[in-house]
Amino acid sequence: MTRLTRREFIRRVSIGIGAAGLSDPEKGILFTSPHLPQCRDVPLGDDIAKGLGVKTYVTNDANAAALGEFYFGAGRGAHNFIYITISTGIGGGIIINDRLYTGSSGTAGELGHMTIDADGPPCRCGNKGCWEALASGSALSKEARRKISQGAQTAILSYADGDIDKVTAETVQQAAEQGDALAEELIARTGYYFGIGLANLINIFNPELIVIGGGLSNMGDRLLKPAFRVAEERSFRQTCQRVRFARAELGPNSGVLGAAAYALPPTKK
Ligand SMILES: [Zn+2]
Repeated sequence: MTRLTRREFIRRVSIGIGAAGLSDPEKGILFTSPHLPQCRDVPLGDDIAKGLGVKTYVTNDANAAALGEFYFGAGRGAHNFIYITISTGIGGGIIINDRLYTGSSGTAGELGHMTIDADGPPCRCGNKGCWEALASGSALSKEARRKISQGAQTAILSYADGDIDKVTAETVQQAAEQGDALAEELIARTGYYFGIGLANLINIFNPELIVIGGGLSNMGDRLLKPAFRVAEERSFRQTCQRVRFARAELGPNSGVLGAAAYALPPTKK
């Protein structure tokens, strides 16, 4: 026999959602979503709450992942840390003095859209030269396709069935693992730009820990060594010495666990 009736259960639980895009966590509104371009100012929290009869909280997916690592993963024990996910894009979350920093209207932590190069390539957000337009998996594959179309000598295409449209960060990585010079150069270039963004974050937030997750982090030293070197070169020595880098521990579960934790009510003071 269960301990709670359904009514009792519904009264006690709440739902946490980590949604890709800009959202207002106070009102549960999803302003925009990169995966759902038609989505504009959707009252996601209220809609789900009405449908299921359960109080619902909405936060950004990368902020949820930051909370997941903070409570249950590589960020355990840290008080000031930054979570960065590097995959097709770059996202993140900022924990300041044990709390997720959400800013004045809930949209803080859009790390991937800090400008790294004022005249850089266009970003899907409409800006130019954003961190994710230079250092993400899609930036890497785009640059690989550009080099190949210019006639660069590389084995990358052979890992993409000879089809330039099938060139991805993974195929570049596969070629690099076999010693392909262009693939190695492209990943090091991605690491270089990733490091510039890290230096900015280190100087601004003086974190004790930076946790890096997302598919591209699996490239390991090939990507992260040049990134850490550039971060060290471009940030204040005393600030950089304080920071520790760690790989995320929870993989795809970080967002789910963090969103669930986000739905818990704060303790009353
Ligand atoms: Zn952008």
